Amino acid sequence: MPELRHDPIQRQWVIIASERARRPSEFEVTVTQQSAEFCPFCPCNEDKTPPEIMAVRDGFSAPNSPGWSVRVVANKYPALRIEGDLDRAAEGLYDRMNGVGAHEIVIETPDHTRHIADQPQSHLAKVLRTYRDRLLDLQRDTRFLYVAIFRNYGESAGATLSHPHSQLIAMPIVPRVIEIELRSARDHYYQRERCLFCDLLRQERDAGSRIVVDNGDYIAYAPYAARSPFELILAPTRHQHDFAHITDDGTEKLAAILIETLHRLRSALNDPPFNFVIHSAPNIRSRSVWMQDFPYLADGYHWHIEIIPRLTKSAGFEWGTGFHINPTPPELAADYLRRVKY
Ligand SMILES: [Zn+2]
Ligand SMILES: [Zn+2]
Repeated sequence: MPELRHDPIQRQWVIIASERARRPSEFEVTVTQQSAEFCPFCPCNEDKTPPEIMAVRDGFSAPNSPGWSVRVVANKYPALRIEGDLDRAAEGLYDRMNGVGAHEIVIETPDHTRHIADQPQSHLAKVLRTYRDRLLDLQRDTRFLYVAIFRNYGESAGATLSHPHSQLIAMPIVPRVIEIELRSARDHYYQRERCLFCDLLRQERDAGSRIVVDNGDYIAYAPYAARSPFELILAPTRHQHDFAHITDDGTEKLAAILIETLHRLRSALNDPPFNFVIHSAPNIRSRSVWMQDFPYLADGYHWHIEIIPRLTKSAGFEWGTGFHINPTPPELAADYLRRVKY
């Protein structure tokens, strides 16, 4: 069973995934473990993954057989496990709990080589609805306080299998980056009774210098204090706190802006590795007392997607200080991305 351990000095939870235990020698070289000919996510290899949790099938075909267009399976090597109770306990000054959670893989397409930006809009919208539907289902489990949804593209961004896929991890804690966002949103709401993100998006639209794409319903912009070159945020212009509430029509428009944004990044930066992460509200149904701190969550928080091209490696300074040096001003990055031909 993986374990969650709390560092009382950094005030941070860490997953100790002992089942993934690696001997020192296994860290020495990073080679892609996937052989050229075999991919467990390709059609006809459905029996090589854990059984499917859900799948989008356009016609009739049996579960765990070809004919799907989007398929969700449990991760064979999960960071957290679905069974069991948290069993919170103290170990002297330290806190621990069982690594209870869910770790799912969303196989985005049967097509092994298709770049996410080359998906038809209607297909990417299906993938986004799959995220939403899984999120809604995982939120019914009151042990889960947060569900992270993310995508790694390219080996240096952490993708170990090249077949297009994204991941969901449901967890019994709120990640520190989300907690900081929630506290900022709460403070702003207490002072002004308005959503911090709505205020900020309005200001960015007025200024315009950091906007990359604006399709009315969503905007993609380079944040004022971007931590790394060409980092972008994509957000709905109308207030919505939880990604689980996105409508079918909303997924179509989000797919459109996501495709355009990723095309622009790909042209500008020669197909860079990247991560995207959905930042959404924690699970309101969670039984954790933690939620009591955020009574205005639905009015004060606003979901968004962070897109981070992996162009620089974090080194000692970033790791040691948590402080970033970004060589590309976000205004310049946005200007470049607006002009690029794609
Ligand atoms: Zn494949
Ligand atoms: Zn808002």
